[in-house]
Amino acid sequence: MLPPIVFTASPLDRASARRGDPAWMAARLADPTSRFLPLRELKPLVRPGPAPVLAWQKAAAVDEAFGLGEAAVLLGVDGGVCHFAVDADGGKTEFDGKFIDARTIAPQLPAGDAAIMAQARSLIDWHRRHRFCANCGKASVPDQGGYARRCTDSACGALHFPRTDPVAIMLVVHGSDCLLGRQSRFMPGVYSALAGFLEPGESIEEAVRREVAEEAGITVGAVRYLASQPWPFPSSLMIGCLGTALDRVITRDGDELEDVRWFTRDEVAAMAARSGDPSANPRLPAPMSLAFQLAQIWLDGG
Ligand SMILES: [Zn+2]
Repeated sequence: MLPPIVFTASPLDRASARRGDPAWMAARLADPTSRFLPLRELKPLVRPGPAPVLAWQKAAAVDEAFGLGEAAVLLGVDGGVCHFAVDADGGKTEFDGKFIDARTIAPQLPAGDAAIMAQARSLIDWHRRHRFCANCGKASVPDQGGYARRCTDSACGALHFPRTDPVAIMLVVHGSDCLLGRQSRFMPGVYSALAGFLEPGESIEEAVRREVAEEAGITVGAVRYLASQPWPFPSSLMIGCLGTALDRVITRDGDELEDVRWFTRDEVAAMAARSGDPSANPRLPAPMSLAFQLAQIWLDGG
């Protein structure tokens, strides 16, 4: 039994039916039991230590620093307590905790905290980069608890919603071997499942077949969905698939990959075992990656 995929298993109820009610939102923002997670430069506030956790703040501390209202994004409700994220950039306030890079801290956090952090990071990042209406160019303001932005021009009034960008990531298998490649930007020794963004008008299966044909010259037949992972850098959804290769002659695309090879099941098992050793070559990416999880599912017979 594998642990939850990193960035999944949030304990929060997103309260999506209620967050569009301004009166309910105002009451929750003013509620002294509500909790707020500040992010500075998209880094979450963390209480460091041997078992780090997110460092939630009370409304009073956050309101004093930034003024609440529109700046807060509703993350969800747990046990009747509302949880919000706030963009703490520009604030000089010191909090009890430390702002730590999300990718660095994610594998050390409890699963629920990592999932909440992913949701917070993606939403805060979206608000930072979408301050103007894509329809008319006027300023837009947060709406619906932070899950939309509304154009301030009364003649336009367009609503804009946060994007999630789908990425297909595929473990391609042929007999008892699987196909792994490496990009030059990877850490030395790391080989991973091939991956690529879906294009408009493309199914997941079509994206899998196109990427593998482009990057390795391999034809993929059957495609099966295995698992998915939110990836908040900034807002992707990794869609993990198993693809069955119809041939095994590799024609590498020099632009995308610097190497791509078939690995036996034993080799992949060894690569999984040493994924945490930065000197190991070849090895799988870190266990927090969906590529690692897909390989593990395949090794376990899935
Ligand atoms: Zn507009």
